[in-house]
Amino acid sequence: MTMHYEKDAHGIVTVTMDMTGPVNAMNAEFREDFGAVVDKLEAEEGLNGVVIASAKKVFFAGGDLNDLVAVTPDRLGEFMEGLVSTKGTMRRFEKLPVPTVAAINGAALGGGFELCLVCNHRIAWNHKSVQLGLPEVTLGLLPGGGGVVRLTKLLGFEKAAPFLLEGKRVPPVKALDAGMIHELVAEKENLVSKAKAWINENKDNPDAAIQPFDHKGYKIPGGGITSPKIVQAVTGATAMLTQKTRGLLPAPAKILDVAAQALRLDLDTALMVESRGLAALTVTPEAKNMISTFFFGLNKVNGGASRPKDVPPQKTEKLGVLGAGMMGQGIAYVSAMAGIEVILKDISVEAAEKGKAYSEKLLDKRVERGRLTTEGRDEILARITPTASDDDLAGCDLIIEAVFENIELKHKITAQLEGQLSEGGIWGSNTSTLPITQLAEGASKPENFVGIHFFSPVDKMPLVEIIVGEKTSDVALAKAFDYTQQIKKTPIVVNDSLGFFTSRTFGTYLDEGVRLLSEGIHPVLIDNMGKGIGMPVGPLAVFDEVSMELSRKAQETWKEMGVVDKWGDGTVMRQVIDTMVIENGRGGRHHGGGFYEYSKDGSKAIWPPLFDLYYKSDVCLPESDIKDRLLFRQVIEALKCRESGVLRSDEDGNIGSIMGIGAPVWTGGLIQFVETYGYERFVARCRELEEAYGDRFTPPQIAIDRAANTEQQAA
Ligand code: NAD
Repeated sequence: MTMHYEKDAHGIVTVTMDMTGPVNAMNAEFREDFGAVVDKLEAEEGLNGVVIASAKKVFFAGGDLNDLVAVTPDRLGEFMEGLVSTKGTMRRFEKLPVPTVAAINGAALGGGFELCLVCNHRIAWNHKSVQLGLPEVTLGLLPGGGGVVRLTKLLGFEKAAPFLLEGKRVPPVKALDAGMIHELVAEKENLVSKAKAWINENKDNPDAAIQPFDHKGYKIPGGGITSPKIVQAVTGATAMLTQKTRGLLPAPAKILDVAAQALRLDLDTALMVESRGLAALTVTPEAKNMISTFFFGLNKVNGGASRPKDVPPQKTEKLGVLGAGMMGQGIAYVSAMAGIEVILKDISVEAAEKGKAYSEKLLDKRVERGRLTTEGRDEILARITPTASDDDLAGCDLIIEAVFENIELKHKITAQLEGQLSEGGIWGSNTSTLPITQLAEGASKPENFVGIHFFSPVDKMPLVEIIVGEKTSDVALAKAFDYTQQIKKTPIVVNDSLGFFTSRTFGTYLDEGVRLLSEGIHPVLIDNMGKGIGMPVGPLAVFDEVSMELSRKAQETWKEMGVVDKWGDGTVMRQVIDTMVIENGRGGRHHGGGFYEYSKDGSKAIWPPLFDLYYKSDVCLPESDIKDRLLFRQVIEALKCRESGVLRSDEDGNIGSIMGIGAPVWTGGLIQFVETYGYERFVARCRELEEAYGDRFTPPQIAIDRAANTEQQAA
């Protein structure tokens, strides 16, 4: 029995959902068992009301993504049948002649919140574990259990839009403000009694059993589709959406369409339009990609698939951060926020204090916004000790070095300070370009040395790339992994290799952008095509941000180390850097400008001499080639990282590319992209690009093997 059915002396039935498995979900079992519950309720004599409650920690988890990801075009009819049947049952529940209440004791997202929406009244436990919303759009889907239609009809288009189009999730207090729920309770134990009290108060009020939108003459808040204000809002939202998604994401466009239909159609017809919308989205590559990576992949990565299994969890208590520059100050901030004691060391106390002031600035902002009390701020700040003294580091169980990118300096510092670590303490380096194995040569215990690569700005970027050197032990890797989770970031684990995974792959995007430039393509077109494939910023603009000057320095270091051109011919890149940085002093945004010039008002425009240097008006390439060149270079590099073992799993590559280098979300990550594009088709397109543009597009062996595998499976 997955739905406990209990009728009390007042004729109120409480249905407590306790489905098979860890969560309640909208699957075949729900369809059957909830159907049976509704049959029983419709036949119940002396029924005065119904409370829907949950025996699980999460109220209700939503659609079963295993089912959704498995839908194929030939099984669409079957999927549609199931959906229509579930929604029909929910509609029958909604039409019961007695008041119904959702007693929300835990997260109710997606299908979970859609179930709440069919109740006449919604009461939630006011607790941080409770979140409400319809996040389907973030998985390339739409809320197809009535969510788009009911929320639009209940709140009106403008108020429903952020929940539907952005998948915004809110805690109970905000849900109450937004009109998504009606009441809060402080104690979870009081949920059901409060729900029953509301039913008792309303049992003689026939209106309480009828949904607002089922009342005759119901007016949608803000207006229906004939209201000029709403027409304008829908048109404006369409334009904004296209600008934001660049037409690459079918889900928000479909949601907008269904919401607009909900403004003009009756509920049942609108629900049918919504079902068709969901069915159409489930078979798109975008939905498959996003579900695979943002749900299954992320769960696997965060679940510790890349963490050594037999090392017990290790908590970081006292962290040493060496270098209070841009990275060190961010690392200190996120660690103190997570409750870790931090020793922030630089060459002078002043420099270290400046680093701590960064945390103060960020925390003050939180206080100003009402997200933190002044006591909370002081407590966090007190965890950071700025210093120039080596002795303060004594007893650190983890030290992360973030000093200048210089191998001698890093070696020197390791030798000088590793003795301060507590017994078994771990040494992490935040280097972005230097091989961990080589850096670990400066340590007396290279097994305790690991790469912990943060991204800038540290407080905003959700990823940490953990690098395993040749001698790094499982204990050191596990420590870095646990620390990353302690500071609430997502860890990917990669094997040591020049540029690791993220920098190496990202470098190909910059390289291809620069090649297009030197071939004579218009610089604005290059950056637009970069954004056209869904990268957040074009390659030239982003190169200005990360700085060509830094690349020049990295090239010098690699030259000294004898590893120049390890991953491919960098001649064009070096020529452009020489021309821009050495000959023209254009090192990038923070060096007085680069490909762009930057005005004080924040605007930017192409640096005019760039046209004389590179632009050739007679050079013309198909846009599809420019786009594919920018995307395929990155995909090929990611596959090479996978093939050579730099990446230990596809999931690490997908999550790492999305969170670390801004790979387009519609791809679900650079490797997942090929899963739906098709390996055979990918190999064929690589060959075309190879023929036209050179051997950097030669398909990697792993892609050829996977293509052969898919062919075999299909046979
Ligand atoms: P930064 O120049 O802003 O800061 C370096 C800090 O180290 C300075 O404050 C300097 O005074 C301090 N320092 C130098 N020698 C020291 C010593 N002997 N003891 C203590 N402190 C010392 O540099 P950054 O951008 O923060 O980069 C630091 C490291 O992080 C580098 O290895 C870099 O490659 C890496 N990294 C940088 C980024 C980025 O985007 N900037 C991203 C990832 C990794």
